Amino acid sequence: MPDPYGWLATAQDTIIRAGWQRRVRVTSSRVGSSICLDGREVLNFASNNYLGLAGDARLSAQAIAAIHTYGTGSTGSQLLSGHLALHQALETALVQWKGTQAALVFSSGYLANMGTISALVGARDVVFSDEFNHSSLRSGVALSQAALIAYPHSQMAALEQLLQEKRQHFRRALIVTDSVFSMDGDLAPLPEILALAQRYDCMMLVDEAHGTGVLGRHGAGAVAALALCDQPLIETGTLSKALGALGGYVCGSRVLIDFLRHRARTWVYSTGLTAADTAAALTAVQIIQQEPWLQAQLWDNITYLKQGLTALGLKLFPSDSAILCWDVGSLEAAVTIDLALTQAGIFAPAIRPPTVATSRIRFSVMATHERWMLDYLLETLAHLQL
Ligand SMILES: *Cc1c(COP(=O)(O)O)cnc(C)c1O
Repeated sequence: MPDPYGWLATAQDTIIRAGWQRRVRVTSSRVGSSICLDGREVLNFASNNYLGLAGDARLSAQAIAAIHTYGTGSTGSQLLSGHLALHQALETALVQWKGTQAALVFSSGYLANMGTISALVGARDVVFSDEFNHSSLRSGVALSQAALIAYPHSQMAALEQLLQEKRQHFRRALIVTDSVFSMDGDLAPLPEILALAQRYDCMMLVDEAHGTGVLGRHGAGAVAALALCDQPLIETGTLSKALGALGGYVCGSRVLIDFLRHRARTWVYSTGLTAADTAAALTAVQIIQQEPWLQAQLWDNITYLKQGLTALGLKLFPSDSAILCWDVGSLEAAVTIDLALTQAGIFAPAIRPPTVATSRIRFSVMATHERWMLDYLLETLAHLQL
C-alpha cells in the first residue's frame, strides 16, 4: 500500500541531517526580563517584549476588566458582529499615536500583512520586496498572486535598477519593507525607498513590528522618527511585541482603511481580536506615551550592551534597534554558544538557517533589564570557552 504521508518522515530526516531541527522551550512564569524556562530561572534576552509591558500589572488588570465587560471571544468577524467598542477605541488611539488618518486592527500582525498586501495587488501587479523581509510579507505576496521581485537587502541602486527594468510591465506596483529587520536589527532606508516609490509610481508598505515602541518620539516608530507620517505610505505592525498583547494593525489614509474593510480577507473572514488583547494593547499605547522614560530606559540598555559587546571584540551586525546580533561564523558555533549560555542561565537564542542565511546569536534588549543582568551577560560572554 502506498503511504501518502511517507514523505513527512523523509522530510524530517533531511531537516535533522542539516542540523536544522528545533525544539520548543517552555516558559512557566510571568513573562519578563527573567523567566522560568524549562524549569530553570534564566535571564531573558530572547523576547520581543521590549518595554516589559507584556508582564505589566496594568495591562493584565485592563485585560481582565475587558473580559468582565465583554467576555472572552469577540464572536465574529468585525465586519459582521465582532467589532467591539474597544476595537474602535484602539483604532482611535493608534491614529493619534501614529499621526495617520485611519487605522484597522487585525487578529495578528501576520494577518494584517497578508490581508493588506493581498487586497492591494493582484495577478497583474508586482511587489518589490527586500530579501530580508519577514515571512508574513512574502506570504501576503503569495496570497495576492502578484509577481514577487526580491531586491538585495536595503540596496537602493539595485532596487532602482529593478524598478527601471520591470515596473512598466505591470499594472500596480508595491514596494514592501520591514522598518527594523527582525533577524538583523538594522533600519531600512525609508526616505530613499519612498523617493523611489514616488519616482516609479509605486505604493509603499512599511512593517513597523520592531520599530513600534522602540523608535521615534513616544515610541511611535521609525516612520514617525523619520517624519514620514504624512507621506503616502502604508504602515503595518503588531500589537504583540513592544505593546505586549496580541494582534496587528494597519495605519494609513482614510480611503485605504475603508477599502481594506471591504477587501482584506484576513480581516473580513477572521474573528476579531479578543477584548482582553484589545484592552491590553490600548493600555500599552497609553502607557508608552505617558511614560517616555520606558523608551529612554530601553535605549540606555541598548547603548550599554552594544558598547559592552563591542568592547569584548564580538562582531555585531549593524543595528538601529533593540535587536543586537552577534555574527558567530557558523551554525555549529551558534548552537554551541546557545547551549553554553543556557547553562549559564541566559536565554539568547541561535538564529540559523533556514530562518537566516548566516547563523547568529540574537540578543533582544528590554527596558526592564537591570544593569546587573547586562553585566552578567557580558561577564559570561567574556568567559565563554569556545
Ligand atoms: C512578528 C512579526 C510579524 C508578525 O506579527 P504577529 O503579531 O506576531 O503575527 C510581522 N512582521 C514582522 C517584521 C515581525 O517581526
